[in-house]
Amino acid sequence: IPVDPFDLVIFGGTGDLAQRKILPALFRRYCAGQWHDGVRILAAARSEHDSDAFRAIVARSLAEYAPEHAGQDDLRSGFLQSLDYVQLDAGADPGWDVLARKLTEDRIRAFYFSVGPSLFGPLAERIRQHGLATPQTRIVVEKPFGHDLDSARALNATLAAYFDENQIYRIDHYLGKETVQNLMAVRFGNMLFEPLWNSQYVDHIQITVAETVGVDGREEYYERAGAMRDMVQNHLMQLLCLIAMEPPAKFDSDAVRDEKLKVIRALDPVQPHHIVRGQYTGGPDGPGYREVVGNPRSTTESYVALRAHVSNWRWAGTPFYLRTGKRLVARSSVINVIFKDAPHSIFGAEAGRHANTLSIRLQPNEGITLKVTIKEPGQGGMRLIDVPLDMSFAEALGPENHQAPDAYDRLVMDVIRGNQTLFMRGDEVEAAWAWTDPIIAGWQARGDVPKPYDSGSTGPGDAELLMKRDGRQWQGIK
Ligand code: NAD
Repeated sequence: IPVDPFDLVIFGGTGDLAQRKILPALFRRYCAGQWHDGVRILAAARSEHDSDAFRAIVARSLAEYAPEHAGQDDLRSGFLQSLDYVQLDAGADPGWDVLARKLTEDRIRAFYFSVGPSLFGPLAERIRQHGLATPQTRIVVEKPFGHDLDSARALNATLAAYFDENQIYRIDHYLGKETVQNLMAVRFGNMLFEPLWNSQYVDHIQITVAETVGVDGREEYYERAGAMRDMVQNHLMQLLCLIAMEPPAKFDSDAVRDEKLKVIRALDPVQPHHIVRGQYTGGPDGPGYREVVGNPRSTTESYVALRAHVSNWRWAGTPFYLRTGKRLVARSSVINVIFKDAPHSIFGAEAGRHANTLSIRLQPNEGITLKVTIKEPGQGGMRLIDVPLDMSFAEALGPENHQAPDAYDRLVMDVIRGNQTLFMRGDEVEAAWAWTDPIIAGWQARGDVPKPYDSGSTGPGDAELLMKRDGRQWQGIK
């Protein structure tokens, strides 16, 4: 469905995120016919470029990051024509009058803050000061949204001084992933799962976000953040919310976000023995974490595994195990819902114990697998085995109907449509920090040192023990 004409200003338009994600996403939407002519995309950044030089930079980025449209020269030049560049500093006045003159009256106006969070306040202030904010204006801010509860509160307060909450779009790109939205479709669009979606039938839930990459290129930021701030506080908690939340009355932004907030507020504090931190060591494939960040005594974690509890009627007694790490054996984001064993086995002890598992794969090979128990083929009595009912979305829908759009494609268009459902609300972000802050403070108070783990492994051995103590085990990462 085409969107209304809009002006989009990308502060930090020459940066890595804009070139790798935002502009290629816009290009793909343009190629898909999401809008007609007249849209203006303005990049604003500190470096000196004229519009043609900027278009040349973007042309190179599109070739690299949107290769599926290579050869579509008319589309590419149509898109590049909608681009413009303004040189300005977020913290100084020159350039803002030029930007103001380039904006169109009476249309949707979005300002994307693709810059570090220290510039969010100066940008918001200058947008107001220079009269650029209209009732149809929205702002988009990237992660990290704060470093802890206090800084997130301060950021929220700063933005709230200039914009209403319904104008602020806080990105968590995990929410833009197709399968994450599918998670809601599976839960709330089928009669099959929701009646079983509680502690009576679910033994436990595992949420894994494993990465093969290290921290190379983001050393300074990561050394201050660590896996807890970089991944758990936002992406993993968002996934937990979508799995655990009550059915919202409708699929609208406040109804969904109200339910997510209730989940975060129902989380118990995490006990120190229910959390494992790790840090990768070097090996044949590359240097270890400490070498990469240049700090031989770094105690920043590149891995976290923890056991969380949502203390409410639905989930009392069902643990949620979360883990994420860098330089692990495979790149894999998956949610596993492990159901309880059947209460009584009519086939006797030799048939073994079999639990249904619903696996929701976010990446790679997005899809859903339900592990069910059947009879082992053959004549030798009644032996049971588990088989997967596997639905790869690409296979089920056919490649032509399932191009697994990038999260940014969806999110940027939702900004233009004015749909905040897949963006984090200020109170959600604060509640998430309120849960993670004491965990981090506990590490600092105890002088906790992360456990080393081999690059290319599944993480520190203590993470296995975390499960083993509970009589459970992690599902494989690969
Ligand atoms: P970057 O350093 O590559 O780019 C920063 C951009 O901001 C450049 O265009 C630069 O010219 C501009 N800029 C810097 N200071 C400015 C100022 N005072 N006034 C105007 N423009 C200024 O950074 P990035 O990787 O593109 O990241 C941008 C933001 O997005 C950061 O907050 C980052 O944490 C976040 N983010 C990045 C990624 C990613 O994959 N790169 C992913 C998630 C979030």
